[in-house]
Amino acid sequence: MERINYTKTVEVRGRYDVIVAGSGPAGICAAVAAAREGAKVALVERYGVVGGNLTAGYVGPILGMVGKGTMRDELVELLGVPQNDMIGRTGFAHDFERAKMTLAQFVNHPNIDVFLQTTVADVVKEGDTLRGVIVTAGEGTFALLGAVTVDATGDGLVSYLAGAPTEKGREDGLMQPVTLEFTISGVDEEKGVICIGDVDDVRLGDERFLDYCKRLSLEGELPERLAAVRLHPTVHKGCRQVNTTQVNGVDMTRVEQIFSADLELREQMFTLVDFFHKHIPGYEQCRVISSGTTTGVRETRRVMGDYVITAEEMAAGCRFEDVIVHRAEFIVDIHNPAGSGQAEEHIQYCDPYDLPYRCFTPKGVENLYTAGRCISGTHRAHASYRVMSICMAMGEAVGTAAAMCAAEGCTPRELDVKRLQNRLTDKGIELYG
Ligand SMILES: Cc1cc2nc3c(=O)[nH]c(=O)nc-3n(C[C@H](O)[C@H](O)[C@H](O)COP(=O)(O)OP(=O)(O)OC[C@H]3O[C@@H](n4cnc5c(N)ncnc54)[C@H](O)[C@@H]3O)c2cc1C
Repeated sequence: MERINYTKTVEVRGRYDVIVAGSGPAGICAAVAAAREGAKVALVERYGVVGGNLTAGYVGPILGMVGKGTMRDELVELLGVPQNDMIGRTGFAHDFERAKMTLAQFVNHPNIDVFLQTTVADVVKEGDTLRGVIVTAGEGTFALLGAVTVDATGDGLVSYLAGAPTEKGREDGLMQPVTLEFTISGVDEEKGVICIGDVDDVRLGDERFLDYCKRLSLEGELPERLAAVRLHPTVHKGCRQVNTTQVNGVDMTRVEQIFSADLELREQMFTLVDFFHKHIPGYEQCRVISSGTTTGVRETRRVMGDYVITAEEMAAGCRFEDVIVHRAEFIVDIHNPAGSGQAEEHIQYCDPYDLPYRCFTPKGVENLYTAGRCISGTHRAHASYRVMSICMAMGEAVGTAAAMCAAEGCTPRELDVKRLQNRLTDKGIELYG
């Protein structure tokens, strides 16, 4: 491969207590939590909208549970979703268009500078210590320096650039498939089924709906990879959120793989709609009204930290002395990396589990936290804690920690975790029991 050396002197646009890279569910909570602690925060987002998968990724419902009193409860309230518990015990549908405004209002805090359409392209390091990030925007390249940086990019990009060890996928390297979620209107509410996924037993006549789709796929009416038809309710009557398209074998950190995956997903949307017209009662008149701006990425890098949590620990409802997210709860939801449906025959349920502080401190780098789906865990563990409620609680805990480090002039590894826990419980967050 041909290489060139490239050096450039850039403007330092600002010095911050906390830099948060990425404004998904984890990043917005990290930024706001740090700002509310009095920290001066830079929130950097490559898209033109805040929210990550909550908005641009078009992902819903908000799934998973955490202990009481976290920012997750605040956001569920802000997004107006408590009344939209149409998914069952732990899932809330939200309005993507309203969320684009509400989440912008949420991060519009006097202590936060929001850098939209600004991409983290590199890191500034002195030895093992992270000093900030290099970003690119419409005006060119500049630096943001910060006492502590939170990597909430989903892809663990900041950690990777800073030299932290990362892993991807399961033993054979395959990751969960990418999916483009989309919304259809024109569904007859009287007749049109709702199907949440494999945990759902909804029937079409005498047959389980998912078995019906599988049978039709075997009869050649639908490609096999699209046979797991998930039709979620939305906040609007007569609409469904479709979480069914999928392309396997894609690594979304490899730019050369992105376009072909996105194209295939967009073609699959219309294959599905043709199938719905023909085979699903109540869906005869449905049409696509919107879809994700970006391919939905379930899994890329996991940043290895001072502790690596496993699904087995989570299933057993693990507790840790250095807990910072308590009573996290969701199934180990592995969309098959090598085919359609679930990867494992039996869905693994988890007792409410703790996430320890050490999962958020990447090995080998100082002044850096992770938050969101890129934290330190195994492939199977990630399949549970990656849901948005849990990512929000992670962001809040880590944002609070980052602000404390900046205020005290200590590194994340020097921070007294007990004091962090006290600060979180003072705010009303349930951490024990
Ligand atoms: C198809 C699909 C369906 C899912 N279904 C559900 C579901 O029903 N319910 C649920 O709760 N969860 C679901 N999930 C999981 C959930 O959406 C994610 O795991 C969660 O959003 C992760 O949050 P995050 O904040 O870590 O990352 P993200 O939401 O991905 O946010 C990361 C943000 O960082 C930004 N970013 C990345 N790189 C850079 C950079 N270099 N510079 C600046 N900004 C950057 C991105 O643009 C993005 O805004 C689903 C995921 C997918 C893909």
